[in-house]
Amino acid sequence: MKGRFGIYGGRYAPEMLIPALEELEETYIHAKKDKRFQKEFLSLLYGFSGRPTPLTFAKNLTVMLGGAKIYFKNEGLNITGAHKITHCLGQALLAKRMGKKRLIAETGAGQHGVATATVSAKFGFECTVYMGEVDVARQRSNVFWMQQLGAKVIPVSFGSRTLKDAVNAALKDWITNVKDTHYLLGSTLGPHPFPTINRDFQSIVGREVASQLNKMEGRDPDYIIACVGGGSNAMGIFSHFIKKKGVALIGVEAGGKGKRFGMHAARFNGGRVGIIEGYKSIFLQDKDGNVAPTHSISAGLDYPGIGPEVAYLKDKQRITFVSVTDREVVDAFRLLSRNEGIIPALESAHAVAHVIKLAPILAKDKIIVVNISGRGDKDIFTIADALKDKEWNEFLENKVKENKKHEQNRPKNKRT
Ligand SMILES: *Cc1c(COP(=O)(O)O)cnc(C)c1O
Repeated sequence: MKGRFGIYGGRYAPEMLIPALEELEETYIHAKKDKRFQKEFLSLLYGFSGRPTPLTFAKNLTVMLGGAKIYFKNEGLNITGAHKITHCLGQALLAKRMGKKRLIAETGAGQHGVATATVSAKFGFECTVYMGEVDVARQRSNVFWMQQLGAKVIPVSFGSRTLKDAVNAALKDWITNVKDTHYLLGSTLGPHPFPTINRDFQSIVGREVASQLNKMEGRDPDYIIACVGGGSNAMGIFSHFIKKKGVALIGVEAGGKGKRFGMHAARFNGGRVGIIEGYKSIFLQDKDGNVAPTHSISAGLDYPGIGPEVAYLKDKQRITFVSVTDREVVDAFRLLSRNEGIIPALESAHAVAHVIKLAPILAKDKIIVVNISGRGDKDIFTIADALKDKEWNEFLENKVKENKKHEQNRPKNKRT
């Protein structure tokens, strides 16, 4: 079967979508060899997204932890604040090649939705984003930005009204409108060819790290650490180094509130092989094989499945996996913000939480690169909550009072 990584991956999609997946694969195979396509992709990354993103030596943290040298690859400086824009730009170019007029996506936290809405605005696609009703309520600021970018956000009101129901709604839309619509998938998962094309688009991150570090240190790193939701930021920074056996690759999963079922999103803590949402991989499941509930402080890691290539590289012992808890993540978030002036996304703070454990036990001549997949602006509500920030709560309360006052003062029934 196509798109296999060991026993994982493949294409387990409804019959009606196979032609669309084949068309995407064909288009990608041609685009990959086409210099004009590559040139346009790169010119968007450099001229629109803001690449290359900096590789920053974390001098203060290195001194504080007293061990290996720490570098941060700051993907948070991309437009929209994270690495996701890169594979969205790539897929938008493929959609243009296929003559599609419309992009659809599903989103849990809204970050993938914002990136999809951004490329839609840039290229003139119509854009529809499906989002569970519960998530719409939780992620109002991202919904607001998607709408400002011109996207239609459709709240999904069936099932548990979260991500997996949004996936179903988006698939239904795709089946109905497959002729003029591209389903923009947001990580290195789903049916073939999505895991492969998203990995390839993201692989620029690892290539940049290799050349940036070579200029600064004259060599490759000893360790690379990245958080793993679906696997796109991890595969982005890892893939260039997979053949270089001297570079240890470490994936960090969301340990949430602890090891109990439903309290975390660490697929390698209790996950089993399954075929869900179009691909075969490791999923957190209940006894009957239904996807398990998950928890993470970071919305982007709060997902029961994991990309097939990442699962395969874990089996091959090429990637080592660890997990960190929500509490460790908040501490890491604070440490990085206070000591390096980099406010990381909560997802990325998982990778930081692990470097805090690893760096002190390594010799001073070792080098660790940590992928900061995104910046923390989007997490302002969650972080203020976690830190129990009183002044922020007062600000929110005042904002509500102010709005009520405006509403009362507004003249009623006067339409002008
Ligand atoms: C979505 C997201 C992730 C998780 O997705 P991957 O595909 O595993 O990279 C990580 N970090 C940030 C900032 C994200 O927005």
